[in-house]
Amino acid sequence: IYILAVETSCDETAASVVRNGRDVLSNVISSQIDLHKQYGGVVPEIASRKHVEKINPVIHEALEQSKISLQDIDAIGVTYGPGLVGALLVGLSAAKALAFAVKKPLVGVHHIEGHISANYIENKEFTPPFVCLIVSGGHTHLVHVKDYGEYEILGKTRDDAAGEAYDKIARAIGLGYPGGPKIDRLAKEGNPNAIDFPRAYLEDGSFDFSFSGLKSAVLNHLNRCKMMGEEINDRDIAASFQQSVIDVLVSKTVAAAKETGVDKIAMAGGVSANTALRKAMQEACGQENIFFQCPSPILCTDNAAMIGCAAYYEYIKGVRHGLDLNAVPSLKLGQRYV
Ligand code: ATP
Ligand code: MG
Ligand code: FE
Repeated sequence: IYILAVETSCDETAASVVRNGRDVLSNVISSQIDLHKQYGGVVPEIASRKHVEKINPVIHEALEQSKISLQDIDAIGVTYGPGLVGALLVGLSAAKALAFAVKKPLVGVHHIEGHISANYIENKEFTPPFVCLIVSGGHTHLVHVKDYGEYEILGKTRDDAAGEAYDKIARAIGLGYPGGPKIDRLAKEGNPNAIDFPRAYLEDGSFDFSFSGLKSAVLNHLNRCKMMGEEINDRDIAASFQQSVIDVLVSKTVAAAKETGVDKIAMAGGVSANTALRKAMQEACGQENIFFQCPSPILCTDNAAMIGCAAYYEYIKGVRHGLDLNAVPSLKLGQRYV
């Protein structure tokens, strides 16, 4: 089964051809980061316009690299939510037009199901059940993946997403957008124990997250330094902020695996590309005899290969969408429009 997948939920125009859900024949990503960074974040209208410009060349390139013709594709997979509505509509319209033109079935995919599915691509033996920590620009979810496409949400953030926290702190210390990779790099030169930022564990046994208190603590620290005329050590701030995030993410994820009796942990989303988080999660899993799985960094951030993988598991279950499928900007995980 060959799936042509399209992803345009945020600021990456992406297309991919995936064989049997796990073999990636092409994975083309056109990133708009350089366009948006001058504004300090993604500007939705600019993103939509750029997607319009890039979508056809990117799809063409993905087909060409895969050496699979459109006629040999079995289905077209596409992200229909969640994300920026104008951005989603570009990929969805292109996918629907193609499906109509070549008379192939359309399979709509949930963007976060795509992120989770990225774990199936490089490790062919990796299968549910497992506990997955989703940490991206807009989501921080702890999920029990019971089977393909079957999720139980154990907890989620009550305020900011982990990636959002990284981006906001990066902006506050003047690193620019996107902040995640920059804090990742800067933190390597800093002392993670230099500043004792708070860890939000919340109520006993809760698998929810909260990053707004940490964000305020970092901003307060910056203001105090400025007022006192003290030197701002951005390396130590980056390292200490990151350590606070990691401590909570790792301990809650391991606790969730223990409570659900699952012996496998996976990570998904842009923040799971973070070097220190990957290392900490690997170490914690090693101590608890839990198998740890995480996609390569390029498959952690937005791409269409993960959408092709998720679409395949939906396709073999018989999921098909009509050409009236609409973009759903706030689509919830586990929610389906058929
Ligand atoms: P969502 O998937 O929730 O809709 P999104 O698609 O915008 O949001 P992703 O592409 O999954 O998010 O991830 C982008 C986020 O990941 C950004 O917040 C970015 O700062 C963060 N990120 C990327 N690389 C790293 C890294 N090495 N360390 C920490 N954060 C990172
Ligand atoms: Mg992006
Ligand atoms: Fe994403």
